[in-house]
Amino acid sequence: MNNDHWQVEVSDKCLGSGLCTGLAPEHFRLTAGRSRPVSDMIDPTATVAEAAEICPAEAILVRDAATRSVVAPVD
Ligand code: SF4
Repeated sequence: MNNDHWQVEVSDKCLGSGLCTGLAPEHFRLTAGRSRPVSDMIDPTATVAEAAEICPAEAILVRDAATRSVVAPVD
């Protein structure tokens, strides 16, 4: 059984571009021009990591919930 979880944060740097909500609408919601995670604890999901990579403001941070290591963005 896979017990890995990711913790998802969206910081104040969000510009409300809507890229993450378009890419992973089940994981991000735009509210008042800001994105928020639908849930801050998720099963590992490729589209969420991808959203963190493409966010133009680098506002999305995805960590391994157990180790706190950064999953995305990586560059
Ligand atoms: S992609 Fe980044 S800047 Fe755009 S809405 Fe999502 S968190 Fe905000």
